[in-house]
Amino acid sequence: MVELMEAQLLEGKKIAEKMKVEIENRVEILSKKFRLIPTLRAIQVGEDHASELYLKSQKRAAESCEIQHEVTTLAATAEEKDLIGEIERANRDPKVHGIIVQMPLPKSYRIDRVLDAIHPAKDVEAVTTSNLGKLLINKEGLAPCTARACIRLIEETGANVYGKEGVVIGSSKVVGMPTFLLLIGKKVTSTICHTGTFKSGTLESHIRRADVLVVSAGKPNLIPGAWIKQGAIVIDVGINRVDGKTVGDIEFETAKKRAAFITPVPGGVGPLTTMTLMENLCSLLENVLIRPENLA
Ligand code: NAD
Repeated sequence: MVELMEAQLLEGKKIAEKMKVEIENRVEILSKKFRLIPTLRAIQVGEDHASELYLKSQKRAAESCEIQHEVTTLAATAEEKDLIGEIERANRDPKVHGIIVQMPLPKSYRIDRVLDAIHPAKDVEAVTTSNLGKLLINKEGLAPCTARACIRLIEETGANVYGKEGVVIGSSKVVGMPTFLLLIGKKVTSTICHTGTFKSGTLESHIRRADVLVVSAGKPNLIPGAWIKQGAIVIDVGINRVDGKTVGDIEFETAKKRAAFITPVPGGVGPLTTMTLMENLCSLLENVLIRPENLA
């Protein structure tokens, strides 16, 4: 009997180290040529545990690349217009180059309205209608960080994905949908699945034919390893807490026996997401400094 090889692990930390060197070079050029300190400003309303963890990892990644990271915290009682006012202040501040609005926001806020207050040229997470819309036209441009991180992981495999079958599970605005668009940009023949696919019972048949699979549903062990196509590239974006442990959306132990490449959870997509934020900041700055009319 032929013994099957286990999947190669796509370790986010190692790739993030490589990205850090690339970003450091870009930051050095920006700082020297334009005499500025690339600066991110995160704005939060009240305090939240998950948001604090994300802020910490942003700060760690930023400082490791000589990027300044500032946090503005509004009182938990602040109104939507106060947050929009704070975003507009950051839009006008020439020393701030990228703006992050921390989630969650109070339930009464209109999230799309708040995010659209960010100037597109400072929208480092690519969450404004303008930047999300541009993804349709310029699929290689600025994109939400997690989606870009997924694509970077796929690129790191060195596999030729041109014309292959891609399946994305999850259709959120910041993960599933942009990942789907970026895959299409790479000429991967792509399908997007969601709760409707799950309810119709066709999730398995889609997953079984996926050469490239990106799962971002936020449901622990939603995908049995036995569904994974032999030799697939498997990216698990899900972060779930089960019995005090962090797990993804895919049954890792069985999936790794079938996939050619697979991301661990934790340690796969996560470490790349914050590094991609730094990459997006460099792209925004380069874009504005070369074409200042973008800030008009
Ligand atoms: P979301 O809740 O906005 O979207 C989830 C999507 O999954 C929806 O489109 C929904 O239709 C789909 N879905 C839910 N249950 C399904 C099922 N049973 N079958 C098929 N589709 C199903 O979530 P999100 O913001 O896209 O995040 C998804 C997951 O990714 C979460 O676990 C989140 O914590 C994680 N995440 C990780 C990172 C990272 O850096 N690693 C970043 C962002 C999000």
